Amino acid sequence: MITVAQVIVDVAAYPVDRPFDYSVPAEMTQIIEIGSRVKVPFGPRNVLGFVVAIKNETDVPLEKIKPVSQLLDFEPVLTAEMLELAKWLKNETICYEIDALQVMLPSALRAKYEKIVNLQTDIEVLPRALQEVFRTAPHVNLNVFEKNNLLTELKQALNNKQVSIENIVKQKGKVKEVRKVQITQDVQKLMEIHQQISNRAKKQKQLVEWMQNHAGEVITPEVIYKEAGTSSQVLKSVVELGAAAFVQEEVFRDPFAKEVQKTKFLSLTDEQSSALNQIMAAIDDKQPETFLLHGVTGSGKTEVYLQTIAKVLSKGKEAIVLVPEISLTPQMTERFRSRFGEMVAVMHSGLSVGEKYDEWRKIHQGKVKVVVGARSAVFAPFENVGIIILDEEHESTYKQEDSPRYHARDVALWRAGYHQCPVILGSATPSLESFARAKKNVYKLLTLKDRALKQSLPKVEIVDMRDELKKGNRSMFSQSLVESIHTRLEKNEQIVLFLNRRGYSSFVMCRDCGTVLQCENCDISLTYHRKNEKCKCHYCGYEIHVPKTCPQCQSDHIRFFGTGTQKVEEELAKLFPGARVLRMDVDTTRTKGSHEQLLQAFGDGEADILLGTQMIAKGLDYPNITLVGVLSADTSLHLPDFRAAEKTFQLLTQVSGRAGRHEKPGEVVVQTYTPEHYAIELSQAQDYEPFYEREMHMRHHAGYPPYYYLALIQVSHEDVLMAADYAGKAVEWLRSQLSFKVSIIGPTASGISRLQNRYRYQCLLKYKVEPDLIPTLLQLIKIYRSNWIKKGINLTIDLDPNMI
Ligand code: ADP
Ligand code: ZN
Ligand code: ZN
Repeated sequence: MITVAQVIVDVAAYPVDRPFDYSVPAEMTQIIEIGSRVKVPFGPRNVLGFVVAIKNETDVPLEKIKPVSQLLDFEPVLTAEMLELAKWLKNETICYEIDALQVMLPSALRAKYEKIVNLQTDIEVLPRALQEVFRTAPHVNLNVFEKNNLLTELKQALNNKQVSIENIVKQKGKVKEVRKVQITQDVQKLMEIHQQISNRAKKQKQLVEWMQNHAGEVITPEVIYKEAGTSSQVLKSVVELGAAAFVQEEVFRDPFAKEVQKTKFLSLTDEQSSALNQIMAAIDDKQPETFLLHGVTGSGKTEVYLQTIAKVLSKGKEAIVLVPEISLTPQMTERFRSRFGEMVAVMHSGLSVGEKYDEWRKIHQGKVKVVVGARSAVFAPFENVGIIILDEEHESTYKQEDSPRYHARDVALWRAGYHQCPVILGSATPSLESFARAKKNVYKLLTLKDRALKQSLPKVEIVDMRDELKKGNRSMFSQSLVESIHTRLEKNEQIVLFLNRRGYSSFVMCRDCGTVLQCENCDISLTYHRKNEKCKCHYCGYEIHVPKTCPQCQSDHIRFFGTGTQKVEEELAKLFPGARVLRMDVDTTRTKGSHEQLLQAFGDGEADILLGTQMIAKGLDYPNITLVGVLSADTSLHLPDFRAAEKTFQLLTQVSGRAGRHEKPGEVVVQTYTPEHYAIELSQAQDYEPFYEREMHMRHHAGYPPYYYLALIQVSHEDVLMAADYAGKAVEWLRSQLSFKVSIIGPTASGISRLQNRYRYQCLLKYKVEPDLIPTLLQLIKIYRSNWIKKGINLTIDLDPNMI
């Protein structure tokens, strides 16, 4: 009987997206499992693949079927749930199944690695054939077993826990190991060895006696030298007699910079307990209910998460907590570690490839029960999930921008359905989509109206910068903000200054002819970096030295425009000469751990003013911050983005929330050129619902989400005519397939019309409920994959895009 593995292969841009059949060689049939990675021949190459099914028949003629060339995992890296989820993602986000599978794994598992088999017990207990292999060393490359047809014996030994297998990732995530001594469990044997040893070998005898009291233990040699008062030579000779064996034990890298103090649970406010009780009821009833926890900044949402998780853990289940990348501050992770200690794994982009791999393995091996992480942590391979939490659920970073273009919220809801557990979406400023669902009772709304310690929300003052100009003040600081900063400095309180830099850059322009320096490959102006006097494209990495003269007119009147954090820092030094300023932006947080160090320093009172971009808007919870200044509230308001007002309101509310969270009352100064805009005006009262009503009205009027769904189709090519032509073809085809209920807008040139030397066109679909839509889009993708790819066209479909 033939054994056949169905494999999803890692081949980019292949016309068909389906599993391929491979025969399983006899020595692998006992050990191959669904969810394991394999190497298989594909055309002239050997490629990585995932086993998604195992069966006993195939439509491929037997003389044509090729064998699996290598089995990479003895324990599957993907669970049955993940394989099912990948199929769902493939249709839901219109991606290749391989992309959906790979996104669930740490990058170390996609890299080059090798498999090592470690001996865990005495060599004598192994079958003879395996003993031969281990005779030379306690760990051996897996290939050796494959070559000698020993995989079946090996699997048996694995099941008996006589050996273990490790992925040693070459260069990248390499497993760290320490040498240890495994003392035999067999006390009888130790006594026999003791007998054998000649009376003159006193030290050996002593060591074996010591070992009799430590039978079965795994100890580092250093500890043995110290406790048994012995030397490495004596130990070695005793190991040779069979009293113990040297083994390698893996150690996990510790991504945490420092130890944390344990903290106790706080006694909840009435609002908090009511929320907790409702969530607990859903957990007890195994209801995959979705809760929208709407609580003002500082209302104690995090405390609700912590106590929910404690209950989930007491039921033997696991918890997934998602936090936007920028608010994954050390303060945030510490709050979870201070309650759950070693049970917590973290996952974010600040970790090295090796650290990420270790955190993933802790989850995979069941060594931890809680993960706190950014978007991709939603795929944490827990098998008994009891709660999934998305903090700051409105954040756009929960949507992945490239394939698979999934939204973590949708994945969370899918997994909650699978595990029959609830989801908590938390925010002070929920996305319009979520709040609308809560109003329709699709989600259950839980509200925290008050701050946990009954502190009042900070007083917000809105300053019209046009008036400042009229008064002759040309600085970036209004008089009012300058005065407030002085007052706080005198009281030794701390200040956060926020520079809204979304869609903002410091560009370089010639004052004589108006030429702005542009990227050679993209339709984008270059950003000026003072540190190394360079101009850089933030999309493709192209960079040049700042020219001395204008490339157009040779004038030397080259100037830098735009308010960068560096410029603000210089002005601060002039206005407040004694003040200690910490600047936090992409430039000062480039190196690993610098983000944490800066925040730590500020928390420890080493600076008076923290100046920063988006990355300081969230998560900060320091008692001494009493003033928040927003230097330019409107820079995000005028972006060509239908969510611009929503994002501005959210940002202003979030930053304001950093002030006065503890005993000292807080104050906020918001500078703007458009104080009359409702997003700014309504942020003053920090009242979400009036904003929600107003913004919903706008969306209804303009036909945007949540009233309509959007799909963005983008077509690019190196040649502008080809790009335009095929964008037109796509639109034409869609019009022929879809009913009038879907409005098709375009094709038009994209906002950035050339990127990395490719011209880009797009079309936008707006629709309500349209069952034909996804099948039609899948059909379009098929046409593209089988005919257009080879012409150099690239076509992407983004359902529910962040930006259009
Ligand atoms: P949010 O996540 O809603 O912004 P946090 O959970 O950070 O709010 O809580 C704000 C502050 O209030 C924190 O310093 C927290 O320790 C404190 N806090 C929260 N809940 C309570 C409570 N029940 N009793 C006392 N202090 C609390
Ligand atoms: Zn010029
Ligand atoms: Zn570029």
